[in-house]
Amino acid sequence: MDEVDQVVTRLDDGSQIRSEKLLCCLGRVANLAGLDLEKAGLAATERGLIAVDADCRTAVPNLYAAGDVIGPPSLASSSAEQGRRAVCHMFGVTLGHAAT
Ligand SMILES: Cc1cc2nc3c(=O)[nH]c(=O)nc-3n(C[C@H](O)[C@H](O)[C@H](O)COP(=O)(O)OP(=O)(O)OC[C@H]3O[C@@H](n4cnc5c(N)ncnc54)[C@H](O)[C@@H]3O)c2cc1C
Repeated sequence: MDEVDQVVTRLDDGSQIRSEKLLCCLGRVANLAGLDLEKAGLAATERGLIAVDADCRTAVPNLYAAGDVIGPPSLASSSAEQGRRAVCHMFGVTLGHAAT
């Protein structure tokens, strides 16, 4: 057992599982710390995210949010698209809405 060709997973209860591979899946949490949402009149959702509409506008109409702080899919490409959508809305540029 060289822990490359095979894996030993040691669990908290002391037991061990020997397997060929281990798939580890982790979630991520949006970092809202320091944003002082309440001072802007906003509150995080119960999942710790900022709620937005299809134009990435928050509950305060002149405030927008995009990227990981609004939740899945939480990818670089979707975050960029959300930012583009938000800025287009700010400046009155009409867009079709791609699913994210
Ligand atoms: C390990 C890992 C691997 C990933 N791999 C991929 C991948 O392969 N492909 C993919 O598409 N996506 C991937 N992602 C996801 C991708 O990185 C994020 O979805 C994307 O970076 C989100 O962009 P963002 O602008 O919302 O946040 P970020 O890129 O995190 O940018 C937020 C910025 O805000 C700054 N900031 C935070 N708080 C404050 C504050 N109070 N004041 C001022 N600035 C502040 C931070 O320092 C940071 O620079 C991965 C993420 C992780 C963690």
